[in-house]
Amino acid sequence: MTQPVFRFAPSPNGPLHLGHAYSAMLNHDMARATEGLFLLRIEDIDTGRSQPEFERAIFHDLAWLGLDWEEPVRRQSEHFDDYRAALDALIDEELVYPAFMSRGEARAFVAEAEQDGTPWPRDPDGAPHAPPLDRERSASDRNRRMADGDPYAWRLDMAAALSRFGGKLDWEETGAGPDGEAGAVPADPASWGDVMIARKDIPTSYHLSVVIDDALQGITHVVRGRDLFHATSVHRLLQEMLGLTPPIYHHHRLVLDDAGRKLAKSKGDRGLSALREAGIPAGDVRRMVGLES
Ligand code: GLU
Repeated sequence: MTQPVFRFAPSPNGPLHLGHAYSAMLNHDMARATEGLFLLRIEDIDTGRSQPEFERAIFHDLAWLGLDWEEPVRRQSEHFDDYRAALDALIDEELVYPAFMSRGEARAFVAEAEQDGTPWPRDPDGAPHAPPLDRERSASDRNRRMADGDPYAWRLDMAAALSRFGGKLDWEETGAGPDGEAGAVPADPASWGDVMIARKDIPTSYHLSVVIDDALQGITHVVRGRDLFHATSVHRLLQEMLGLTPPIYHHHRLVLDDAGRKLAKSKGDRGLSALREAGIPAGDVRRMVGLES
């Protein structure tokens, strides 16, 4: 049997909170229970929002919690070449197209399309699907814009990808989705529309780099928050397109605040360092997030 490999993959764009602590400790517990490995990956492709002090705080907070992880830690910003190579393969296969529309233009397009009262399709996170204009552009229009230096992202041609790789796509879920989905869960990538595969400023996106890294690092079990359950549909499709073996997925409950809302870095919710500074012993954190001690 292959040795199980787990990972905790935070983005260093803010302080870790109790929700991260739960996810990291659950991964660590599962690795220990199965004699598996626990890896730490720093998901810092967003070089604008990622900051070295947040990365240092991640190491500090996890060590405070008593966790240890394999070295070296994979830092995504050091591996743009890996993502670029996968992106180039998708470009060659005409599975992605350059997308020039700005956010504002897309918003205006959707508002206009909804004027007659017909709602524009939304993805599982509630964001409108990308308008079709970029996909439908003629080759000469694309080439002219590229030659003019217009910035562009790369979007997945969902219809083309599904017709070639969409067959029977599911994943093994050992946790649960928001509606209790478990077992062999059918993937529904079409619910996301033409997702962004590479951003205007970098040759990747969360979806692309997460599937590449999970495969490159030999992750056998992806244990992460239920807020990423639906994103797994995109991940399964990308794995098929890139010929990658899918891991087993385990989506866990989210740690909520006293008002029952999801914790967020942006709200500065219950940062682990704040708890530490308030004199809370690390041992109490397990109980606070509902893990047995
Ligand atoms: N980097 C992502 C986050 O901090 C987690 C990605 C994942 O576990 O797939 O939300």
